[in-house]
Amino acid sequence: MSNYWSDFVAGLQPYTPGEQPQLDNLLKLNTNENPYGPSPRALEAVQARLNDDLRLYPAPGSERLKETIASYFKRDISEVFVGNGSDEVLAHTFNGFFKQRLPILFPDISYSFYPVFCKLYGIDYTQVPLADDFSLRTEDYQRANGGIIFPNPNAPTGRLLPLDEIAQLLDGNRDSVVVIDEAYIDFGGDSAASLIDDYDNLLVVHTLSKARSLAGMRIGYALGSAALIEGLDRIKNSFNSYPLSHLQVAAAVASFDDVDYFETTCARVVSARTVLTESLEALGFNVLPSAANFVFVSHARHAAAQLSAQLRDHGVLVRHFKQPRISNFLRITVGSDEQNTRLIACLSAVLSEAAD
Ligand SMILES: *Cc1c(COP(=O)(O)O)cnc(C)c1O
Repeated sequence: MSNYWSDFVAGLQPYTPGEQPQLDNLLKLNTNENPYGPSPRALEAVQARLNDDLRLYPAPGSERLKETIASYFKRDISEVFVGNGSDEVLAHTFNGFFKQRLPILFPDISYSFYPVFCKLYGIDYTQVPLADDFSLRTEDYQRANGGIIFPNPNAPTGRLLPLDEIAQLLDGNRDSVVVIDEAYIDFGGDSAASLIDDYDNLLVVHTLSKARSLAGMRIGYALGSAALIEGLDRIKNSFNSYPLSHLQVAAAVASFDDVDYFETTCARVVSARTVLTESLEALGFNVLPSAANFVFVSHARHAAAQLSAQLRDHGVLVRHFKQPRISNFLRITVGSDEQNTRLIACLSAVLSEAAD
């Protein structure tokens, strides 16, 4: 707390990301990073852009990347927005669409950045409780609101809401902006991007951090009607005209071009998720059905907070949230087969230590 801060700054409650410690032999399963690394073609593309051109500003509209994304999703370039990580795209979304007379709605168990953005931009919100099994009931969202947002698959639960239920939710919400944060959609769901022609109030937000393994590059984008995208552009051009560097654009374009690598690595994560789920269940964990690159688990006889601390002693990081309803759960990123084997070995050791 500093005297130089305004009351506004003093009142903010910033988001705390999962830790990124620099320790040898650490197994990081706490921030949903991809074990396989970016496409080699993305790395080559970045190398090729490491030259004197870096003295020049990038194209403010990142048209090359927007064209690539538009053709990948068979949309028009006017229906694509790009930003410095999807967190930035989300920030502009909250700022641009959610400052309304009525509170916005999002689930009580959801991405914990949403309430942070609300505080930053002075947005009222109502957290709608998920069902006991952490599924989202679309009927709970059929009420007057200033906007709706949720991740699908949800974070940190991993549960997927099927596309027909998203369409139902949209049918009852024609007057406010509905945002689907699809950070994990490539690990097991169908994108709501296919609904954009039917709902001009639908915005779908994606990131290259998870399925495309470019978290360190900070690239995100949104797909929606040209009217919504123009709104986002107005915010962006009032904030930072050049959010994406030459290097970000090069990496992202090459990543979309390398379809094989993308599909192969996603499929590997998905099959590792099945094996990991079975191994965790064999150790007595309850594992929620996941369509993401992480699993959300609890154990009837072992407290999650303690398990997380014990795993840390073994050099394994997983994510524990001290939030009501989920304080006895761990969110564990699906790693490579080798990493998952190490996790299971450490967990068995920890569980048997506790039993002694
Ligand atoms: C990881 C994540 C993001 C943020 O992704 P970045 O593009 O790295 O900023 C957004 N939403 C959810 C639900 C996420 O899990």
